[in-house]
Amino acid sequence: MAEADIALIGLAVMGQNLIMNMNDHGFVVCAYNRTVSKVHDFLQNEAKGSKVIGAESLEDMVSKLKKPRRIILLVKAGQAVDDFIDKLVPLLEAGDIIIDGGNSEYRDTTRRCKSLKEKGLLFVGSGVSGGEEGARYGPSLMPGGHKEAWPHIKDIFQSIAAKVGTGEPCCDWVGDEGAGHFVKMVHNGIEYGDMQLICEAYHLMKDVLGMDHDEMAQAFNNWNKTELDSFLIEITANILKYRDSDGTHLLPKIRDSAGQKGTGKWTAISALEYGTPVTLIGEAVFARCLSSLKDERVEASRSLSGPQGVKFSGDKAVFLEDIRKALYASKIISYAQGFMLLRQAAKEFGWSLNYGGIALMWRGGCIIRSVFLGKIKEAFDRDAELQSLLLDNFFNNAVQDCQESWRRTVSTGVQHGIPMPCFTTALSFYDGYRHDKLPANLLQAQRDYFGAHTYELLSNPGHFIHTNWTGHG
Ligand code: NAP
Repeated sequence: MAEADIALIGLAVMGQNLIMNMNDHGFVVCAYNRTVSKVHDFLQNEAKGSKVIGAESLEDMVSKLKKPRRIILLVKAGQAVDDFIDKLVPLLEAGDIIIDGGNSEYRDTTRRCKSLKEKGLLFVGSGVSGGEEGARYGPSLMPGGHKEAWPHIKDIFQSIAAKVGTGEPCCDWVGDEGAGHFVKMVHNGIEYGDMQLICEAYHLMKDVLGMDHDEMAQAFNNWNKTELDSFLIEITANILKYRDSDGTHLLPKIRDSAGQKGTGKWTAISALEYGTPVTLIGEAVFARCLSSLKDERVEASRSLSGPQGVKFSGDKAVFLEDIRKALYASKIISYAQGFMLLRQAAKEFGWSLNYGGIALMWRGGCIIRSVFLGKIKEAFDRDAELQSLLLDNFFNNAVQDCQESWRRTVSTGVQHGIPMPCFTTALSFYDGYRHDKLPANLLQAQRDYFGAHTYELLSNPGHFIHTNWTGHG
């Protein structure tokens, strides 16, 4: 009997939690998994006493679904998604909806949209953020693909999503094709940037100001009551004060070598591909790469020296506030760059993206959730076509307010030999973006000199000429 509102395939951590979330919101979910024994385990444990039903096979699952059928895949991204789609297609009929909630690459989602449209099926690629906790109690959801599917899934998606303010859901329709997964990818890139910025602030506190772990935890706690109020600042304070079973702080015992799953890298690759200067996320990815060269760095540290005898002699409280402002200004740059990339992708693919809506989707439920994203939403409410966040009065004023501190932080850090790839690239971007003239005139001349690539004169735009710079031939 068709009794289930929706089916979910993939009973790993994300799938199980999302099912229980949907169940809590009154939806009947049919659970299925490649390894069917996991369906039985789930029904007898986590889902015991709930309205969740199980399926023994895909045919069984499809037969239990109300029409149009709605099926969420939460399986390992890549081939597993294609394999399930191939198996589902012959079992479904026109108008049925397949939703991929995994971390799929946006181009795969666009490809799947195209191929399923030809078969009369609707496909949605949805970013799901917030980890297992988010999936269970309210994730940030970023659905895109065939818009005809949205009226059929909107109620479920917006019910289970995180809520902010007066109950606004952190979920709205993102756009066509792979737009949802593209937005999720940029979200993950921004997450890399936010994390690296916090790490640089920590490094400066520790090695320039000589603060101990409890002092640093207190500083991050204080910062969490300012414009920086966010999940990542909050957990950083908790991590800094956490003590191991032997009573000493755990953090300094952790190996300083960070891994990555790839979505930050994808964002940086897209930025290069579409010619958008998303420098901060790029540096955040490279900072992880450099950190992972642990053995090589240990070796290098024995022979490469930094500045000698530099000691901080200023006012500690003033410099701590400088670091906070440098972090805030750099964060504004990172989000400005992220939204630049979204604008460029929208242009590239003909997507119509609702930038304020995207800020709201990230405002709660996900790792980058923050009060700051509410300010971004307000900026796009003021001007939906805002070219850059930096051109919004609120953010322009915020950067002005931070500017002196930001420059002091970067120059002091450089004098002390502290690596700050994200603080410095953010400042360089800001200085580049605010210059009406950059030295690229020389670059153009160089290109013309060695390769006859031609150049434009300021006085005659659009007209390209070549000069014989050596006077020969
Ligand atoms: P996962 O470890 O990525 O995937 C495990 C699930 O995929 C299991 O149901 C497994 O079935 C199935 N699977 C793996 N290979 C398969 C194949 N070749 N054919 C069919 N099924 C296959 O699970 P997860 O961590 O819950 O994540 C699910 C998706 O959400 C992923 O795309 C992930 O990137 C994304 N995501 C994860 C998080 C997170 O915090 N974990 C957050 C956001 C998004 P069996 O049980 O039969 O092996």
